[in-house]
Amino acid sequence: MDRPADLPPAGARFSAIPSVDRLLRDARVERAIARHGRALVLAELRRLLDDERAALEDGARAAAAPEALVDAVLARIDAVVRPSMRRVFNLTGTVLHTNLGRALLPRAAVAAAARALARPSNLEYDLARGERGERDAHVERLICRITGAEAAVLANNNAGAVLLALGTVAAGREVAVSRGELVEIGGSFRIPEIVEAAGCRLREVGTTNRTHLADYERAVGAQTGAILRVHASNYAIVGFVATPGEAELARLARARGVPLVSDLGSGSLVDLTRWGLPAEPTPMQSLAAGADAVTFSGDKLLGGPQAGIVVGRRELVARMRRNPLKRALRLDKGRLAALEEVLRLYLDPDRLAERLPTLRLLVRPRAEIAATAERLRAAVQAWCGALAVVDVADCASQVGSGSLPVDRLPSAALRIAPAGASAAQIASRLRALPIPVVGRVHDDAVWLDCRCLASAADEASFAAQLRAGGLAEAR
Ligand SMILES: *Cc1c(COP(=O)(O)O)cnc(C)c1O
Repeated sequence: MDRPADLPPAGARFSAIPSVDRLLRDARVERAIARHGRALVLAELRRLLDDERAALEDGARAAAAPEALVDAVLARIDAVVRPSMRRVFNLTGTVLHTNLGRALLPRAAVAAAARALARPSNLEYDLARGERGERDAHVERLICRITGAEAAVLANNNAGAVLLALGTVAAGREVAVSRGELVEIGGSFRIPEIVEAAGCRLREVGTTNRTHLADYERAVGAQTGAILRVHASNYAIVGFVATPGEAELARLARARGVPLVSDLGSGSLVDLTRWGLPAEPTPMQSLAAGADAVTFSGDKLLGGPQAGIVVGRRELVARMRRNPLKRALRLDKGRLAALEEVLRLYLDPDRLAERLPTLRLLVRPRAEIAATAERLRAAVQAWCGALAVVDVADCASQVGSGSLPVDRLPSAALRIAPAGASAAQIASRLRALPIPVVGRVHDDAVWLDCRCLASAADEASFAAQLRAGGLAEAR
């Protein structure tokens, strides 16, 4: 084997590797054992020394000094124990960002979840009767009170809610869906695939841009298990378009004796126009129009934890509850406790915009966002040094998660225009900060929309971590 001439033969090189025992006596390794335990440290040391032996066998380099080996093992241990899921600053301008965790819970809901996770509770226990209870009961009462629905059942998320609803009412039969509503929501939620996964057959109705009531009338027959209406939450078809109203569709469904299932996706529990936001369909409207079951998410506009909610006719909901799928899709106690707390806020809509973080962020006035950006501009400019020019610019936030797809909310951003480094490099350095900052690259600049930097504490930690370093050193 070729090897540099100045390297000693393999046997001698191996003897230069310190023993495991010797490394275990190193003060820094001892401290690592005290923190992380002997098993992990020993496993990583052995693995490192195996790699070292293999490297020396190749003759690629000389043996590493013991100090370097200790550095290396500490780095490996750190890589194992460092949390993978970390806090970030969401400065993308998308409030309900699916990749960044969607809705942020109010403090009271977080506390309720923590209590439920740490202590026993009456999760499925009827305290009055001393017997087994129903886990959804804790929130069903509130959901029905807020939406006026007869009954409600919960699933792990809205995809699960749609699966449960269709798998219960239409398994083995056809589900009629307009071709204009065969949407993909992102990730792997595609209506044709969900219909199939629920054990139903897709019956396409009408065309992409225009579907008429007569198309549904022709499609619905003895094979039909349900008519599904899907809110086109993440796109809009404009121009020469037509689709029957929900009430018309409900009348047809009733006349033919098939249920109408309406998937709202986000589904707001309040009229958002009250706060000057664009209107988003509510489950109350769908129920009033005559939908038999309505599905929506817990962590989109509702502002709660990940969950899927089905509201609708008592008899249908009871069948969904008995479906074995329900057990597979059930919600855990922490999220149930958080959801109950969030739903309670809806009993006092006048104070909802102060108490529900999602709504608070959505209604945040542009002037206030611009003021945040102005306060932080100098700190960001100092971090960039001569490698970029930072100013405060108008921008437009989005609600996100498919809600209100075409509407934009006026906002303000720190715009970082590169002057040396590239926009992609700057964005990457921002993501490498201790609390990663996630912005948006657009028009060859990095945009940090300050809408979601909404508390004095967040502003302070954002600025503090910039003061600890700089773009130039980070390179
Ligand atoms: C978001 C969405 C879903 C999926 O909801 P999850 O809670 O993410 O599972 C389904 N349908 C529509 C129309 C949606 O917008």
